[in-house]
Amino acid sequence: MSLAEQMDTVTDAAAGTVDRHATTQTFESTNPATGAVVGVFPVHDADAVRETVGRARPAAARWAGLGFDGRRQRLAAYRGYLARRMHELADLVHRENGKPHADALLEITLAIDHLAWAGAHARRTLGPRRVRAGMLAANHAAYLEYQPMGVVGVIGPWNYPVFTPMGSIAYALAAGNAVVFKPSESTPAVGAWLAAAWRAAVPDVADALQVVTGSGETGAALCRAGVDKLAFTGSGATGRKVMAACAETLTPVLMELGGKDAMIVDDDADVAAAADAAVWGGMSNAGQTCIGIERVYATEKVYDAFVAEVTERVRALRPGSDEEAAYGPMTMASQTDVVRRHLDDATTRGGRAVLGGTGDGGLPHAGYVAPTVLLDVPEESAAVREETFGPTLTITRVADAEEALERTNATSYGLAGAVFSRSRARAMDLARRMRSGMTSVNSVLTFAGVPSLPFGGVGESGFGRIHGEDGLREFTRAKAITRQRYALPVNLMSFARPPAAFDAVARVMGMVHGRHR
Ligand code: NDP
Repeated sequence: MSLAEQMDTVTDAAAGTVDRHATTQTFESTNPATGAVVGVFPVHDADAVRETVGRARPAAARWAGLGFDGRRQRLAAYRGYLARRMHELADLVHRENGKPHADALLEITLAIDHLAWAGAHARRTLGPRRVRAGMLAANHAAYLEYQPMGVVGVIGPWNYPVFTPMGSIAYALAAGNAVVFKPSESTPAVGAWLAAAWRAAVPDVADALQVVTGSGETGAALCRAGVDKLAFTGSGATGRKVMAACAETLTPVLMELGGKDAMIVDDDADVAAAADAAVWGGMSNAGQTCIGIERVYATEKVYDAFVAEVTERVRALRPGSDEEAAYGPMTMASQTDVVRRHLDDATTRGGRAVLGGTGDGGLPHAGYVAPTVLLDVPEESAAVREETFGPTLTITRVADAEEALERTNATSYGLAGAVFSRSRARAMDLARRMRSGMTSVNSVLTFAGVPSLPFGGVGESGFGRIHGEDGLREFTRAKAITRQRYALPVNLMSFARPPAAFDAVARVMGMVHGRHR
């Protein structure tokens, strides 16, 4: 199917939803490079969202009833469908989000890999197992299993419109839940495409993955629509509103929030490799990456060489919307203001831009930000303390890796980070002590592409985990069952127990545990 036909399908699917809910309001998503309309989508109001969740409920029961094998088979059909249409989806991501086609392909391949892993590992991670019953219940068999929660609401951002929501969707589905997904109002076409693809690939349980579109109000309605869990990815400010809305019904939440990730470049680092990784980690996707590198702390010994290597590489980057462009426009025009505010603040406080800055000379239009390298930026500047989400890097000279770590950890965020050092022991020690949910050594962002590793942050970067076994369990309820195998002559949990029974138990416990000091 051609892209045009695919988009017709998407728009038809969305229009069908409008009719079903008699919602008349619509909104447009536009191409950030050209301003062209990408698609028109319904604004789902609170009633429409509740109806969608209502439809998901029987689908959740049917989906759960398929068991691990039935779900694995259908998740494979879904990933097969995505894999066969990767270029169409990448083109849509390019047009709606602005990132280069190749970067769109990268996030789609990662998402497919996660779908494969989640489907393949759900049974082993979540399936029923017998566990040791322990001394006090030795006459019982004990069982543990992780059951689906029901309907999971997923609210996602626009910066990785396939990879990021799929981190919740794939794992929630593999765990046996139905999903109602609310994409960002900046990338509804990609969200609608993903749901249309599901309907096409898994027609017998089509309502197990549905999409609702609209602005933040639609997201807020999803929080209040009776979902069994809400997986949120976005900013801390919105995350707080989502938690407050979910608190009204004690709906559990997963929070994947922003970051201010740092890279540490130690004395013995491969400086060229570190520079290459810092530039990619900081500037790919126009810096709009939650786990992107925003700050670098390079030791005295390597600082000058590192700055030179970074500068040379950044000079070669050209933002644009063509095939050769390194990165695209900012997806949301308003983000440009945040980036400019951070750059202005940094230079006002004494920092200097060796490349880039707030000028827009040579850029295609005002929605682009030049790749910018900032030096000597004071630590209290917004460019060091707040999430910039633009193609910028601050590089700071430090005495040694210990100072780098101290500054890295002096943030309210704690999403991810990177360490560059040739000493394995030193690098692993720094990685362990970095206050973050994820750290990569001698590379950047790698953990996001390892499906068996959990993904998530600490502090203001959120809580809960997607990906890996933790990501599967995140969308389940642990269920404990005991089954009495035979009755003991004395039942301790009965009013009929002999008065001295617990004296005997206390004596045994004293012998077993009392010797430990
Ligand atoms: P926002 O917080 O602005 O929005 C996130 C989502 O929440 C959007 O779908 C948005 O809808 C929706 N929303 C807005 N208001 C409400 C509300 N009151 N109730 C419920 N939902 C609402 O984040 P961005 O889209 O700007 O994404 C960028 C942020 O996401 C960055 O901070 C980035 O670091 C973070 N992020 C974190 C990741 C992680 O895994 N930790 C991964 C990727 C990004 P709408 O767009 O329609 O307003």
